[in-house]
Parts: sequence; C-alpha cells; structure tokens
Amino acid sequence: MPRVAKGYIEQLPSGSFRVSVYVGTDPLTRRAIRLKATAKTEQQAHIELGRLLKEAAEGRTPESNATMAKLLDEYAAIAEWDVSTRQTNEGFIRRTIKPALGHLEVRKVRGPILDQLYARLKRCGDLSCTGKPFTEHRNVPVLVLNPRDRRPAWQQVTEALTEAIQSGSLAPGDELPSITELSALQDIGTGVIRRAFEALAADGLILSRRGQSPIVAGTATRVLPGMRKRPGPGHDCRRAGCRPHVCHPMKASTIRGIHSILSGAFAAAQRWEWTDRNPTRSAKPPTTIRRPIPATSPDDVAKVIAEARERSAALGLYLWLVVVTGVRRGELCGLQIRDVDLDRGLIHIAFNYVVRGGQRVRKDTKTHQDRWLAIDPDTCTLIATYLDEIRVELATVGVELREDAYLFSNDSAHSGPWNPDWATHKVAEAAAAAGVKLDIKGGRHYTASQLLAGGFDLRNTAARLGHSGGGATTLRHYADPVPEVDRRAAAYLARLTAGSTSQD
Ligand SMILES: [Zn+2]
Ligand SMILES: [Zn+2]
Repeated sequence: MPRVAKGYIEQLPSGSFRVSVYVGTDPLTRRAIRLKATAKTEQQAHIELGRLLKEAAEGRTPESNATMAKLLDEYAAIAEWDVSTRQTNEGFIRRTIKPALGHLEVRKVRGPILDQLYARLKRCGDLSCTGKPFTEHRNVPVLVLNPRDRRPAWQQVTEALTEAIQSGSLAPGDELPSITELSALQDIGTGVIRRAFEALAADGLILSRRGQSPIVAGTATRVLPGMRKRPGPGHDCRRAGCRPHVCHPMKASTIRGIHSILSGAFAAAQRWEWTDRNPTRSAKPPTTIRRPIPATSPDDVAKVIAEARERSAALGLYLWLVVVTGVRRGELCGLQIRDVDLDRGLIHIAFNYVVRGGQRVRKDTKTHQDRWLAIDPDTCTLIATYLDEIRVELATVGVELREDAYLFSNDSAHSGPWNPDWATHKVAEAAAAAGVKLDIKGGRHYTASQLLAGGFDLRNTAARLGHSGGGATTLRHYADPVPEVDRRAAAYLARLTAGSTSQD
C-alpha cells in the first residue's frame, strides 16, 4: 500500500513560508525525514508543497541527517576489506577521518572540504597542528610508587593511569609511551609497566597494538586546528616525555588511502540514499610525485653528534657509527664485541635486532645483510677508547667484557642490547636539543647522499648500506672482505663529519 505523505506550510517570523512534507523515519537516526523548501509568498508555498508531495509520492527518499561518524561506522562494518587492510583503514578512520569529519552531516560534505583536509594532511599529519611551533604534551601522570602502599607497584601504576583516563586527561586516541619508554621516563621497571598495561587492556581502557605503543580506548573526539589539550596541574613534561612538535607531512599515498576509504563510504551512502552526491568525485587527492628530501648537511650532523656525546659516550659513538657506516639502527644494536676488528679496521654486521609486538627478535642476517664494513682509523680509535672505559669499569668489579657482549647496552656487563626504539628516542632527543631535524633513518640518508655526492658509485654505496645482496656475496670471495673503495668511503665519511665538528 503506498504511503500517503503529509505536508504543511508555516509562516516564519520573517514573513516567508516554510514547506515541509513528512515521508517517514530514518532507520538509523530515528529522526523524522521531511522534504523541505522555502517560499517568499503563500502562493509559491502552495506550488512547492505540490512539488514536494509529488516527489514524496514518487518514492524519492530524501537526504538523511546522519553524520560522517555514523556513515563510517556503518560502512566499515560492511566493507569487504581483508584483515590487514581492515586494520590499516580502521586506523585511518579512528585517527584521522573521524576527528576531522565525524561531526559533519554526510550530505553537507562537499569536494572543497575534502580538498582542504587533504591539503592540511599534506602539510602535517597532526590535525591539531596549525604550522606554528608547539610542544606535544603527553598527559601521562607522574607515577609515584608509595613504598608504604601495601599493593604491588603494578597496581599503583594501573590505578594512576586509570584515574588519568577516567578523568579525561588521557583522552581516547591518545598514544601512551611504549613500555620501555615509559619505564625510562618514570624510572619504573619494565615488568611493572607491562603488568599495568596488561591490566588496563583487560579493563578495556587501552588498546594494545602489535609492535606499536598502546592507545587509550574509545572514539577520538573532534580535533580543531590550534586546539590542543593543555596539560593538567602537576604535569611534568620531562616525565611525561613531552617533546617539541615536528611536522610530519602525511605521505601522498596515505592521503590517497584516506580518499579511497571516503570514496567507498560515500558510494555506500548514495546506495543507501542518505545523500545524492559523492563529493569524492570532485575532490582531488595529491599525486605521488615526491620531491627528493635534501640530506642533512655535515655541519648539522656534527652538531647532533656533539650533543649526543654530551649525553653519553655510548650515544655519541652510536650516532657516529650510524653516519659513518650507514647501518640500520637494529644492526648497530645487535653489534657484539666479536664483530669489531680494530686491527684490520672492520666491523661485521651479522644481526639485526627488531622488536615485534613487544618481542625482541634477533634476526640472523646470514644471508644478504651479513656484511663487513670498513672503518677508518679515527673511528677505530673512538671504539677502542670507548671499550677501554667499559673494561676499566668492569675490572673494578672483577668482570671481563665477554666476546658476545653488546657494544651498546644499558646493563653494566653489556649482556643485553639496546632496544632500537629506545635508541631512536635518544637520538631524537639529542637532535631536538641540537635544533636539527635528524633521525637514524636520516643518518642513513646522509651517508648515502654524501657518498654519492662525493663521487662514490651507487653499487658500493648500496653495499655499504646493506641494500644489495649481490654486492655483499661478492665481497665474501675477497681475501680482504672490504674492497678498497669501501675503505675510501669510510675515511671520506669520517673526514667529512669530523671536519665539521672542528669548525664550531
Ligand atoms: Zn608537557
Ligand atoms: Zn605539524
């Protein structure tokens, strides 16, 4: 039986007329669905009423008032994504799309709104960033363990974090520091933090993510540009691990991923007759042509190394080796005493330490990543001095530095390696203090570009960086596993980087 639409005309205080025709209830929003129009005169209003009644009788379902948040939820539930795509896409929806667009009505989203969002993401992936410098506060409370408290430490930590989440100072979507990072910041054992995180996850307060630090559960609310949470009373930037914000432009390919999620969602909204138009048709996501990133200058690299040395001899040497050898951060963490041959000026890159889902994996790099690298006499001296100091210190407690000890370690006997994430964090701190934009990957980028700029050929540069399997395999057949060109590369990089240090 065809439903008969009901319509009415009302006069507004302004004198004009509003015409509306009721056609049903939106199954999702439970709101009345009306076709609406306005008219200047009563006669026009009657004409509009006739038109709307006809439209309603023809069964045209009007636009829904549903918001983007609702659309994204409904769409994600039915989208045919495989497991890993789903994980990625749901992450984009939660972190970016919902905070930016979730509050808007689906039918009000037009192409230019999307273009604006894409332009902002292209400048910086942080939606609250306006392009001006600011501190990224992390509202992690100061965790104080009360020795007189009868409860175990992990329960005290759990309670403090629960309170921060329930009071809203840690908001949904906020990223917590990783177990190791929080442990280092607050000087509390990793075991205690891990146990507390497990309890919080069991309570559904945080989401632990494979290989990433956990985030506070719940839907992130809208983030406006320039609108950032202020830290609460008693906030301690140092212990919360706050840092100056560094803009991270979202990659064009990532923005295109977001665009394709939106395309799918709007196509669904059209099928469901929530809206007549698909704004993703007119919006233009960025294309993937990327300009090469300029490498950090030798001067700047030297500044960061000097800053790292101030912090600790180990950190200084670590960063020096990153730029002089170009090895991966995990490869350097995996470096053992027996891998360093100071007499022959060689280091052996045999392992890569990676942390996956909180688990340390010592990846045997016996295949393509296993390689020997030349180190110049200055670097040899740096390593020798560093090791002598460790040996002297160990001798005072009657311990010898074992051959399988790690070069970089936070325990006195050097039996366990640095966590690569921790090394990244420490290098980031030193770079920030030196006012230079540089991370470990940037260090490798520096190595590659300086070698290429210095006239070293691509094949040898690639071999030094462990990029090519063929190069390293060939090298094993030489009596001296390192060709002459790698020796020159080592000396060149050391000279270039040290040359700048003496300039300041
Ligand atoms: Zn802070
Ligand atoms: Zn930014």
